[in-house]
Amino acid sequence: MPKRIIILGAAGSIGRQSIEVIRQSAATEEPLVLAGFSVHHNAKVMLSLKNEFPHARAAYTGDAASAPTGADWAGPEALAQLLSAVQADIVVNGIAGAAGLSASILALQNRMHLALANKESIVMGYRLLKQLADDNELSIIPVDSEHAALFQLTQKIGMHAIAELTITASGGPFRTLPLERLAEMTADDACKHPVWKMGRKISIDSATMANKGLELIEASKLFDMPQEHIRVLIHPQSYVHAMVRTFDGALYAQISEPDMRLPIHAALHWPHTYPSPFGHAELAGKTLEFFEPERNRYPLVWLARNAMDAGDAACIAYNAANEIAVARFDAARIRFTQIAQVVSETLAHSWNLPVSSFEDIFDIDMKARQIAEELVEHIAW
Ligand code: NAD
Ligand code: MG
Repeated sequence: MPKRIIILGAAGSIGRQSIEVIRQSAATEEPLVLAGFSVHHNAKVMLSLKNEFPHARAAYTGDAASAPTGADWAGPEALAQLLSAVQADIVVNGIAGAAGLSASILALQNRMHLALANKESIVMGYRLLKQLADDNELSIIPVDSEHAALFQLTQKIGMHAIAELTITASGGPFRTLPLERLAEMTADDACKHPVWKMGRKISIDSATMANKGLELIEASKLFDMPQEHIRVLIHPQSYVHAMVRTFDGALYAQISEPDMRLPIHAALHWPHTYPSPFGHAELAGKTLEFFEPERNRYPLVWLARNAMDAGDAACIAYNAANEIAVARFDAARIRFTQIAQVVSETLAHSWNLPVSSFEDIFDIDMKARQIAEELVEHIAW
């Protein structure tokens, strides 16, 4: 039986690349079937996907009034309706931001494995999602490239032998910019990513390295590793995605082309290793560089470590405050360097709160957003 796939956020960067993985699988021995998908506002992508994959059911999660004819479900309940009506083997969650958490919960509640690109789900609620997955005998397969790499490495080497994890970062477009110029950078400047073509939010997060902060939290939760044993290295070529150091002192690296279709391909075929049509890494003639990130250029990496030390509620607050700050920076309301200020001042509140249910998570998320919004209102440009 071919594997059936549902793609959430099909019009986004992860969504489009997931569709490409399905397309490319058609002529292979393990074809993947698009059973269903969601788009938020993009009617054009919805119609063209319906045309190309006539058996796929479509959810339009934006305003029902603007939904095109051809949507099987539309409006705020559309995601829940799609996930309860259509059975698939794997759900790819490519929704951006905290909204992805509800989608992850729904996928697992409807007994489907989760290929998880939406890192906010892990940052906000991994412990509860993992419980839900375990109760239903389901897997959470990381798609974020560094964590997909760590997933491969830890499965092959065995967690018991591993002393330390490393995730790499490109350093973003401002890696070598004089520090005093950071404050004048615009959102469009931040979105000119040197390696990856991604959504706007994650592109801005790559420039501040809040993306790496979120990924530190993500790695710590997924692999149950204290933050002091997870390193971040800047690696501008983005060929090495992650490394593990074993107790005997050896370092093992996962190396591949910087192409998100590779980790998506791996996740959709997991637990099998299946030939990929997306090229393979070639090291001859390549120079690979690694640097420590500078604290004053990327304070959001250190703020993520502080949040981890403070506990789960602080990690939720870190993500929420950063989402608000990035949206306001993208609207030219605050400066690039003020993103870290908003997150830092939000984290300065007390986050010693229990996180024992999804309601707790949504409450803490809301509280942090309100605090961050107030901070933005009072910030001097
Ligand atoms: P994107 O902005 O390109 O796409 C996100 C999609 O989610 C869009 O189609 C959008 O319409 C949809 N969406 C937004 N809000 C929604 C809501 N409330 N309900 C339903 N759908 C909604 O973003 P992206 O770059 O594809 O990133 C998606 C997720 O994957 C993020 O969590 C990101 O951190 C993660 N990720 C992305 C990449 C990448 O290379 N793009 C790599 C690693 C991880
Ligand atoms: Mg990543």
